[in-house]
Amino acid sequence: MIIAGPCSAESQAQVLETAAVLSGMGIVWFRAGLWKPRTFPGCFEGVGREGLRWLAAVKEQYGMKVCTEVAGAAHVEACAQAGVDMVWIGARTTGNPFLVQEIAQALQGTAMTVFVKNPANPDIEAWTGAVERLLQSGIRNVGLIHRGFSSFYEKIYRNSASWDAVVQMRGRFPSLPFYCDPSHLGGRAEYVGEISQKALDLGLDGLMIETHCNPSAALSDSVQQLTPAQLSAMLDTLEERTSDTGDVQFNRTLEEFRTQIDSLDETILNALASRMELSRRIGEIKKAHNISIIQTRRWESVMKKLVRIGGECGLSSEFVRNVFEEIHKGSVGEQETIPDCSEPRHK
Ligand code: PEP
Ligand code: MN
Repeated sequence: MIIAGPCSAESQAQVLETAAVLSGMGIVWFRAGLWKPRTFPGCFEGVGREGLRWLAAVKEQYGMKVCTEVAGAAHVEACAQAGVDMVWIGARTTGNPFLVQEIAQALQGTAMTVFVKNPANPDIEAWTGAVERLLQSGIRNVGLIHRGFSSFYEKIYRNSASWDAVVQMRGRFPSLPFYCDPSHLGGRAEYVGEISQKALDLGLDGLMIETHCNPSAALSDSVQQLTPAQLSAMLDTLEERTSDTGDVQFNRTLEEFRTQIDSLDETILNALASRMELSRRIGEIKKAHNISIIQTRRWESVMKKLVRIGGECGLSSEFVRNVFEEIHKGSVGEQETIPDCSEPRHK
């Protein structure tokens, strides 16, 4: 299941031209943002209600289904009146219970499906709460969209993938459709393919992909949008991974566990990097105070404590010793590289 279309509806001509090409490719669902939440003031903030007529024209001329982002009751009411088929709650709105509640109320009695994007902050409880708020208001056609979480640490993607959050959310809402939005997750056109493949490997149900006939001229999110031709080529590369054993459930479970392991490995690496940074700072003050790098007695007592805690967590003393001996060696090596100078390193 693919939802494609521009980040923002910019003009009637742009909307209809994109829809014409996409519907020619067999794509049924068309997206275009009308009310755009922008980080900085003064940016293009969407065409608003006017664009609803353009979406209606997409339905009429190409028989596509249309969707847009809503951030409050007024948006929902306008969409319902204009015959919009589906709305999504954007990342900046999901974390706001007042707005989700008013959206839920406005959706009552409409035929529209609602997808809930994850909140921008990495908080799956807030995401869960938003979904529950809709379900408890009697809204039945609810789905989820993963678009990545804001992160200080993510260096490659615009938002951090945190696939383990997807695994957990799917466990919480196993019967709801679950999509991925690789465009906002990756933030660059070149990442859309690999993220889409990962979403597929995890068994997600569909993708929402920003597609623009002329991305470099787009009024929002220009570097992450694909042309329809790029979208088509990318979709052709996606592989439905057939399982070695043919057992789909087995493979999905395996993929879920591996995803969690990958996330933990990243957490371990981040923790090791922070540890190394501290160790370097300790090295600097040791040097400044003429204290030797290795203080055997302290390290022996630290190791004893680690082995005890490891044992309580079910880890063998040999394993804990091996791991921490390597970490300690790395730290000592790092401290040995600190230059001998009386000037402070950092101004
Ligand atoms: C969008 O889909 O254009 C959008 C603003 O998404 P998000 O809420 O994920 O940032
Ligand atoms: Mn966008």
